[in-house]
Amino acid sequence: MYKSEIPRKEFLKKSLLGFAGMTVVPGLPDSSGILDQQTAHPMKDYTLKNVKLETGFEYEGDEVVHTKTGLFGVAISNGKIKNISVNKPDDSTAIDAKGWLMLPAFKDMHIHLDKTFYGGPWQATRRRTGGVKGMIALEQQILPEMLKTSTDRAEKLIELLQSKGSAFARSHVNIEPTSKLQSLKNLEKALAHKKDGFRAELVAFPQHGVFYTDSAAYLKDAAQMDIDFIGGLDPYTIDGAIEKTVDFTVQLALDHKKGIDIHLHESGESGLKTVEYLIKRVTENAVLREKTFVSHCFVLAKLDQRKQEEVAEQLGAAGIGIVSTIPFGNLIMPIPVLYKHGVTVLTGNDSIIDHWNTWGSGSVLQKANLMAQLYGYASEFMLSRSLKLATGNLLPLDDNGKQQWPKAGDAADLVLIDASCSAEAVSRISSVQSLISQGNIVF
Ligand SMILES: [Zn+2]
Repeated sequence: MYKSEIPRKEFLKKSLLGFAGMTVVPGLPDSSGILDQQTAHPMKDYTLKNVKLETGFEYEGDEVVHTKTGLFGVAISNGKIKNISVNKPDDSTAIDAKGWLMLPAFKDMHIHLDKTFYGGPWQATRRRTGGVKGMIALEQQILPEMLKTSTDRAEKLIELLQSKGSAFARSHVNIEPTSKLQSLKNLEKALAHKKDGFRAELVAFPQHGVFYTDSAAYLKDAAQMDIDFIGGLDPYTIDGAIEKTVDFTVQLALDHKKGIDIHLHESGESGLKTVEYLIKRVTENAVLREKTFVSHCFVLAKLDQRKQEEVAEQLGAAGIGIVSTIPFGNLIMPIPVLYKHGVTVLTGNDSIIDHWNTWGSGSVLQKANLMAQLYGYASEFMLSRSLKLATGNLLPLDDNGKQQWPKAGDAADLVLIDASCSAEAVSRISSVQSLISQGNIVF
């Protein structure tokens, strides 16, 4: 699957050689085998020329009808943007960005890098029996075999995300009695190999329940390791208890100064009760504000409009974010209501190809496009706003069209896209021509 989708080395080679003047830049590695992250020599200081940046909106009356852009020079130093200057097309020491549009690098904020078939043979999802508990039983069978290749598979998956413009992910990682801490250790190896071109924050994910299987002790061990969030899974359905499981999760996060990001698929009364109880516990513990997220949270789609507004307002007030894969078909999330109440909304691919799902493309720009289509964000202004779903809420222009990114001192996490502006990039899912991660040119 991987090979047929992206002949990556070929693609990267072309991309690199496509950068006019690359070979005269001091410190730039030569073209022999440099492109694997493992052997890349990070570049510390260089300048890009012919970089297209958005500079403002063009209005007719009060309607945004166009996005204004210009060409600039962008100097990168030590992983940061050093300055933005007048474009010098004749500067032979600068790397030619060919008029491509520079945007903040993308972020996949919900994925399972540790548990994927990606990089192996094609395998459609199999018929499910027994709901999530049936899937847990299936995982107990297949995980020992999957762990044998999970480092390599994670690296392949990271390469896919990079090719689609993501330099960052929030990855859930299985912590349960079958894998113990091995899935985490294997993923950490992959991330170490890829560190110059990709970073991740990790969620200790009790995929088999906190108490349904005896995972609590492993979660406590994981909390002392290099993870950032305590995860969770459908407390009522899996553990048979809402408060006991949420209390465990909150306490573990507080004890180890972590955030929280729980999977919640339950769409009935137990789903609502779980959200309301989490709101209560986060409100009691201000340190968890802006560090607590509910992934999926399908129950929001099932509430009547009045209740949706009420819960969205409470989530916004508590500083709890929602991570959504932007589902469509049987269930449409009330994303516009969440935005209205100031709730942080993030997205991710979740599964690319595994025993749960096969629909992930690796592109979060595609998720922004899907959101724009689903909710009717069709205007220049609303398309340009939709980009924030792909970038983790960073936009080149603010709502008034004032340039707010990039600025000197910003992290040099960038993509160059074959598009005239953000709105076109979202609408066309324009192709990513280059990814720069903390100043390192990935391709
Ligand atoms: Zn997930």
